[in-house]
Amino acid sequence: MSKLVRMISTDGTLTVIAADTTEIISEMQRIHMTSRVTSAALGRLLTAASMMGAVLKGKDSSITLRINGEGPAGSLIAVSDNEGNVRGYVANPIVHIPLNDKGKLDVAGAVGKDGTLTVMKDLGMKEPYIGQIPIVSGEIAEDITSYFAVSEQIPTVCALGVLVNRDNSIAVAGGFIIQLLPTALEDTIDQVEECIKGIPSVTQMLADGMTPEDMCHRVLSTFDLEVLDTSVPEYKCNCSKERFTKGLLTLGKDELLDMANDPVTEVKCHFCDMKYRFTPDEIRKLAEKI
Ligand code: ZN
Repeated sequence: MSKLVRMISTDGTLTVIAADTTEIISEMQRIHMTSRVTSAALGRLLTAASMMGAVLKGKDSSITLRINGEGPAGSLIAVSDNEGNVRGYVANPIVHIPLNDKGKLDVAGAVGKDGTLTVMKDLGMKEPYIGQIPIVSGEIAEDITSYFAVSEQIPTVCALGVLVNRDNSIAVAGGFIIQLLPTALEDTIDQVEECIKGIPSVTQMLADGMTPEDMCHRVLSTFDLEVLDTSVPEYKCNCSKERFTKGLLTLGKDELLDMANDPVTEVKCHFCDMKYRFTPDEIRKLAEKI
């Protein structure tokens, strides 16, 4: 069970959200058959999306993170609803590159550094909010921090981690995001920086059996924290045959009539690998609607 918790300091100066997304990232790996480094890259992006989505207000709101750094993985996309339920995909799920100079999976090498991180928030208004920043490191956590600083002017500390076993299964995955509130005091940021000096990595904390709540207390050890809310997010896709039918309609009449000659038309969801089949009769009926 993946778990997410959001806490606030009792002095009202900051919030922290932490997540254990091990099961979500395991499910992602099962669906997309990602190699180790792409599991780490997409796993970090999905974890960030889940935490950023969980704070959105409004039942039908969603957030989409897209990072494209011209690396061998191609673009990566993660979408979350307002409960932190996520789905995502990576253009090239199988990337094999050497470990980086720290002996870790080279996420920045897979993602690339020459491109942008785009954040799209659909809050159910007419126009979605779109923020875009140049990629800072391609390691994703730094890029998320930069997004918050540049696009939302919120001082943020973000850490993300995915530990992948030799057999490609996911050992642990999770992260945290600390954000100062407008009520932050002058020394709040110093206090946060003091706290996070020398803390263990996210994967180390999770491997040690810490819950997201434990992580919040460990990371912000000198703050008094109280729980705002918790959720149990999942890897969840919202695709349906109806959605794909709408997509097919955008192809136009000629294309559809052409497709009706095929014995069967199969479309596959990028996010969950679900396949939807349309008979020539169904395709012809769609063409007639146009
Ligand atoms: Zn789907």
